[in-house]
Amino acid sequence: MNSYRSDIVIIGGGAAGLMAAYGAARQARLGGLPLTVTVLEKMPRPGRKIMITGKGRCNFTNVKPWNDFSTHISSGSRFVKNAFYNFDCNAVLDFFESQGVKTVVERGDRAYPASYKSSDIVDALVRACFGEGVKIATGTEVSGISIDNGFIIDALEAAGPARWKCSRLIISTGGLSYPGTGSTGDGYTWARSFGHTVTPLFPSLTALVLAGYKTDVVPDASMKGHIDRSFPLSETGSKLRGIHLENIALSVSAAGGGLIAEEFGEADFTDGGIEGAAIFRLSRKCVKAMLNGARLSLKIDLKPAVSSEDLLERVRSLWKEADKPSRRPMREKDKCMMILRNLLPAEMIPAFLDCHPRIMTLQRISKTQTKLWVNLENIVKALKDWEMDIDGYVGYERCVVTAGGVSTDEVSPKTMESKKCPGLYLCGEVLDIDSDTGGYNLQTAFSTGMLAGQSASSSLA
Ligand SMILES: Cc1cc2nc3c(=O)[nH]c(=O)nc-3n(C[C@H](O)[C@H](O)[C@H](O)COP(=O)(O)OP(=O)(O)OC[C@H]3O[C@@H](n4cnc5c(N)ncnc54)[C@H](O)[C@@H]3O)c2cc1C
Repeated sequence: MNSYRSDIVIIGGGAAGLMAAYGAARQARLGGLPLTVTVLEKMPRPGRKIMITGKGRCNFTNVKPWNDFSTHISSGSRFVKNAFYNFDCNAVLDFFESQGVKTVVERGDRAYPASYKSSDIVDALVRACFGEGVKIATGTEVSGISIDNGFIIDALEAAGPARWKCSRLIISTGGLSYPGTGSTGDGYTWARSFGHTVTPLFPSLTALVLAGYKTDVVPDASMKGHIDRSFPLSETGSKLRGIHLENIALSVSAAGGGLIAEEFGEADFTDGGIEGAAIFRLSRKCVKAMLNGARLSLKIDLKPAVSSEDLLERVRSLWKEADKPSRRPMREKDKCMMILRNLLPAEMIPAFLDCHPRIMTLQRISKTQTKLWVNLENIVKALKDWEMDIDGYVGYERCVVTAGGVSTDEVSPKTMESKKCPGLYLCGEVLDIDSDTGGYNLQTAFSTGMLAGQSASSSLA
């Protein structure tokens, strides 16, 4: 078995771990300390998750000032504050610029590399680490940690079992989302073994699955409401998939209870369910409520800027227009389609009609004859009040972030050091910190990582 020694070992070469390694090595160099810093990363390359962030464009921070920034942190904002001020969004921008990455700030204060290539962010982090003499051992999966006059880390590397010894250990193994990137929640087990509490874990920033959207669903006995993304789409789901909705108002209510959450913005029907920025913002509260047994429904207002009365007037005037004596006579169904084409994207109409069978109904007018009836009030109701039950949510296989984690009450916000185990530091998503989409999650990973690295180094001075 190969044996190694490093003053500081960091488990997990993601956003938090790479920044921790850079922070630790740089701090040591500036302090004139000859420390060795090693990152152990199980994947063949570091930063696999960063590669898929922001749809491959990497929204690496958000440049809002702390007072606004902190309102986008769902859990852990008080804990993060000190780390943020130590290494804030402007410092992160400066860091990447100093590594040769040109950056741009877009709508909503979201910062991206100007190339819109997430690989530029990963390359910059790795380059910065190497520049400070950090060793990155990839393909090295840690299997266990013990304490004996320092930390002993057992791992499997390409050559076989290996062991590292260190006096300062940083755990930055991330959460559980997108396990294919290497984030499989290993850090929670070790943190528990050191006496830490792990608050309940659940998927956040994820797709919601509407009733009737999927078929052949087998309920997940281990996670209430989880509907794996791989279940096939129903006929209605297939018709809805690919539709993008903008400027819509959304609200979620619990059966027999009140309003759970409201949002305004964009949504997309996908292979998983309904997702997109506004749904992601709703999803945390929805998943939590469903895990607690709540039955939820989603209401979509496709025309939030118009009142129901005004919309009905418009629908009636479109109907009259179609009925004008000067026009070629139209069948009832064609008139209905003409109204809908005026109010909805054409590709959405078949699924919209499937979901609202009361818009067009057949009425028997004699023993042998039926007449198609178009209900204008029901068109308005469908546009303003499209209500669907929520059957569940997509889980860790495709959620953006894991809510819950190592309790921040047990970690020092000033240093990121464990209050349970001296010499152990934790940073990034393994902690009970999660935020909205918009660059907040990577920024908190960078801030907590930098502080953990600097503190681990300083403690060896
Ligand atoms: C699809 C998607 C898009 C996203 N887009 C954005 C975005 O645009 N902006 C934003 O701010 N946030 C985004 N996020 C969230 C953000 O990527 C994460 O919050 C952030 O990467 C967490 O960083 P981390 O370093 O804590 O964990 P991770 O990035 O998950 O890194 C953990 C690392 O630890 C390694 N590891 C785990 N176990 C072991 C072990 N036993 N041995 C060795 N190594 C191990 C893993 O391989 C991994 O490399 C996105 C997330 C996803 C899934």
